[in-house]
Amino acid sequence: MQSNKPALNGKVRYTTRRYKCPHCGSCAKVRSSKEESKLVTKRYLQCQNIECGHTYATMEEIVHTITPSAMPDPSVNLEVRGITTKTVNG
Ligand SMILES: [Zn+2]
Repeated sequence: MQSNKPALNGKVRYTTRRYKCPHCGSCAKVRSSKEESKLVTKRYLQCQNIECGHTYATMEEIVHTITPSAMPDPSVNLEVRGITTKTVNG
């Protein structure tokens, strides 16, 4: 058999952010989101554990650039920084 497809065996890799309920640790689902600015998005989440039922909001902020855009928006001012892989010790 010949195949030029990547060896993913038909599986699609989703890179969707998974949110966890801070109370019970179950998965939480994004119910809606609002763009506060080009760099900040507010998300409203609902815990999927019916016994918990926690609903809450998060703020997601773009903090810096790793590789600059080829189509830069002059209104977006982000510091260019490399990837920091710092480990947190205790
Ligand atoms: Zn919960």
